[in-house]
Amino acid sequence: MTAESATTENTTTAVDGAAAGGALVELDNVSKYYGNIRALEGVSLEVHAGGISCVLGDNGAGKSTLIKIIAGLHRHDAGDFLIDGEKTVLASPREALDRGIATVYQDLAVVPLMPVWRNFFLGSEPTRGLGPFRRLDVALMRETTRAALLRMGIDLRDVDQPIGTLSGGERQCVAIARAVHFGAKVLVLDEPTAALGVKQSGVVLKYVAAARDAGLGVVLITHNPHHAFLVGDRFTMLKRGIMSGSHTKDSITLDELTREMAGGSELAELSHELERATGDTELERAEGDTGLERAEGDTS
Ligand code: ATP
Repeated sequence: MTAESATTENTTTAVDGAAAGGALVELDNVSKYYGNIRALEGVSLEVHAGGISCVLGDNGAGKSTLIKIIAGLHRHDAGDFLIDGEKTVLASPREALDRGIATVYQDLAVVPLMPVWRNFFLGSEPTRGLGPFRRLDVALMRETTRAALLRMGIDLRDVDQPIGTLSGGERQCVAIARAVHFGAKVLVLDEPTAALGVKQSGVVLKYVAAARDAGLGVVLITHNPHHAFLVGDRFTMLKRGIMSGSHTKDSITLDELTREMAGGSELAELSHELERATGDTELERAEGDTGLERAEGDTS
C-alpha cells in the first residue's frame, strides 16, 4: 500500500470479506447526523470473537459517536448495525449489555471511596438470606472479585482498598476484568490508554489482549497507532466522520498506519508552513535588529 492511498479520504482497502459471516458485531455503511452535522458517514466495521478491531481517529473524527451507537446510547440514521448477523437498532445501553456488549468509558463510572470488590459488583450485587434477613453477600463478592482479577492475571494487593486509590491503569484493568466476568461477548474500550504513561499503557494493553484471548471481540478506540498496532488485527481510520481507511494487520505496517493517522500529506504541509513561519520570524528578527541599530545610530 502506498502512502498516497493511505491518506486519501473515503479510500478503503478491502477487509477480509469472507469473515463477515462470523462477526459478533458489524457496522455496514453506518451514518449518523446531528442536525446538519455529519458525525459519521458510511462507516463499516467488523468485530470478531477473539479479535481486536481498532478505531483510530483524531479529535472530532467520530469515535465517540461510533461508541455511542454500539453501546446503545444513540441510533444510527443510515446503514446497518448487526449483532450476530441480525440487523439491530438498540433501544438503550441496558439492551446493549443484555446482548453482550459492554463498554468501558475513559472516565470509568466508579465510586472512588468504595472498595474494589464493591465497585466490581456495582449494580449486580449478590445477596443471601430471604425477606428481612436478605443481606449483601460480601464474602462472595470479595472472593469472586479476587478470583476474577487473578484469572485475568491481575494481582491486586487488596480488593478491600478503595478503588480511588488504584492507578488509572489498574482501574481500567479492573473494568476489563469486570466485563469479562459478567459474560460480555463484545468489549468496547474508549481510549483506555489516553491518560496513561508508557508503562501503564503497556499493562492495560496486556489485559486488552487477555480479554481477546478469553474469546471476546474487542473494539479498541484510540488515537495512538503504536498501541493499536501492538494488539489490533483490524484497523478502521476515521477522519471528520468519514472512513479514511480499513485494513487488516497483514495489509499494513506500523509506519503506514502512523503516517495515515498523522495525515500524511497534511503533515508535510504543516511542516512546510512551520518552516515558512520560522523563516518569517527570523527575517522579522533580522529586520528588527537592523532597525534597532539604525535607531540607536539616530540618537547618537
Ligand atoms: P474527540 O476525540 O474529540 O472526542 P470524536 O472522534 O469522539 O472526538 P465525536 O465526539 O464523535 O468525535 O464527534 C464527531 C462530530 O460530531 C464532531 O464534529 C462533533 O462536534 C459532532 N457531535 C458530536 N456529538 C454531537 C451532538 N450531540 N450534537 C451535535 N454535534 C455533535
